[in-house]
Amino acid sequence: MFDHDVLIIGAGLAGMRAALSARQNGVDVAVVSKVHPVRSHSNAAQGGINAALQDRGDDWRDHAYDTIKGSDYLGDQDAIEIMCREAGEEVITMENFGVIFNRDEEGRLGTRAFGGQRQARTFFVADFTGQALLHVLYEQIMRAGVRVYEEWFILSLIVEDGRCAGAVLMEIRSGDIHVVRAKAVIMAAGGIGRVFEPSTNALICTGDGMSLAYQAGAELMDMEMVQYHPTTLQGSGVLITEGARGEGAYLLNSEGERFMERYAPNMMELASRDVVSRSEQTEINEGRGINGCVLLDCRHLGEQVIRERLSQIQEIARDFANVDITKEPIPIQPGMHYQMGGIKTDIDGQTAVPGLYAAGEVACVSVHGGNRLGANSLLDTLVFGRRSGQHASDAVKSISHANVTDASADADRENIQGLLSNAEGGPMFGALRHEMGKTMNDNLAVYRDQQGMETALSDIREVRERYRSVYVPDKGKTFNTNLLFTIELGFMFDCAESVAVSGLERKESRGAHTRTDMPDRDDENWLKHILVKNSVDGPALEHLPVVITDWKPEVRSY
Ligand SMILES: Cc1cc2nc3c(=O)[nH]c(=O)nc-3n(C[C@H](O)[C@H](O)[C@H](O)COP(=O)(O)OP(=O)(O)OC[C@H]3O[C@@H](n4cnc5c(N)ncnc54)[C@H](O)[C@@H]3O)c2cc1C
Repeated sequence: MFDHDVLIIGAGLAGMRAALSARQNGVDVAVVSKVHPVRSHSNAAQGGINAALQDRGDDWRDHAYDTIKGSDYLGDQDAIEIMCREAGEEVITMENFGVIFNRDEEGRLGTRAFGGQRQARTFFVADFTGQALLHVLYEQIMRAGVRVYEEWFILSLIVEDGRCAGAVLMEIRSGDIHVVRAKAVIMAAGGIGRVFEPSTNALICTGDGMSLAYQAGAELMDMEMVQYHPTTLQGSGVLITEGARGEGAYLLNSEGERFMERYAPNMMELASRDVVSRSEQTEINEGRGINGCVLLDCRHLGEQVIRERLSQIQEIARDFANVDITKEPIPIQPGMHYQMGGIKTDIDGQTAVPGLYAAGEVACVSVHGGNRLGANSLLDTLVFGRRSGQHASDAVKSISHANVTDASADADRENIQGLLSNAEGGPMFGALRHEMGKTMNDNLAVYRDQQGMETALSDIREVRERYRSVYVPDKGKTFNTNLLFTIELGFMFDCAESVAVSGLERKESRGAHTRTDMPDRDDENWLKHILVKNSVDGPALEHLPVVITDWKPEVRSY
């Protein structure tokens, strides 16, 4: 058994930012990650991070307004105010830690334009911003003396007397299972991307953290709000950053028309993501697509801009689509990218379970509401990661460890034994995962309706039923990825089911949740969040009012 004051699950940007602030506050901190920290999905972030810097003539209130409008008025405005107010300091802190942001002609930090924002306020490192941030934060937590359980896997959260008191972890290398006691746990395990197939997300984004918190009694909120990014490659789902459009790339249909003129005459390709994805899907559905795609044209940007600012997507287009972006447009389509919902927290990361915090994509503070603005997620991870770390480390100073014993791991040991002893001939995780991902993408994508969402829900439940006899051929202890992927699939069902039941519950169209059978936004009845709680009868739903401070809901156009 191991003991720590604060245990953080996840070493992406949210987890490492939380670790650093907690450690700087003088407590003992450990971070767990199922992959090496710098292989977390944050590493894949391309486009940048938003902040309104006063000395650029920008104002955090304008950033807040753009975020609120982008969220289709579902974001909680108190949380959005905090995120936008604290953004500038957070970006400068990262710069001081050593992140080499791109500069403008005068040598100051440079910005690029991003969707749904009236100002160019996205700070960036070429098209690998996440990698730059993540590596620098990793250096910082090493320097600060944070203990890292690298390639360890969380199996469950421990709750004693109503408080979160630690976690059960598996060391992947040996297969050994350990109990780790903690006075506070911060869940920062990232998103649920791979519950859909395809997705822009890494294969490790399987919603483990959301499911574990939900099982432990926390609430999930806004789960129906799943972002489809406008520019992903067909088949593989690999992301082409919004930074490309920020640099001036545009979208064309099969007739060579810049169709965004008809949908968002002011912001064009840089309207909010939900708006651009719907426009593309409409073009494709009405027969003006090419093989299920529309085209992203970068040719006019010129080789220098592409080389200096978009080199990664140049490689991605070449390697995954066989396209030279300096000479040809890229076929792209809307693809699953981000979960706006997650574990409900307050502005300090606290969940409904005392001692359990959440931050980053796994959490829902809620700053993204019905649609996240590009480059607001990295910001969310840093601001609320830091705040969670701060709050948790303050709180543990007056708390002692709960009475936890090694017996806390018994249920997980039994569960694993059960999986390993299922008879040969049962389904394997891969086929089940694929089936679930496909029904999610067929029925809970850019456009939804009652019948499709009901189909998805019954498919999920049917696949989950078959999972009971899932077969794990590898019985070994060392790096048993077969077993781990099977356990991950178990977590994915809770996430998928929450998306489907919340989607069916919301009887209107708002942000990313667009129903063809209920096309209008209905503020009178649905300006509210949907909460999902785990109960003996399955997911139980509740509603919660949206926090409105200064910005009253308006008709949304770009
Ligand atoms: C391709 C791509 C590009 C993006 N570009 C941008 C961008 O330019 N700007 C922007 O703002 N946002 C962007 N986003 C979104 C943003 O990158 C993510 O939302 C954010 O990085 C998530 O960070 P996180 O710390 O919450 O989680 P992650 O970085 O996903 O980290 C999750 C951590 O949890 C650990 N973990 C998970 N499950 C377990 C388990 N069972 N046991 C142990 N550890 C576990 C993982 O090992 C990992 O360390 C992009 C996303 C993608 C997919």
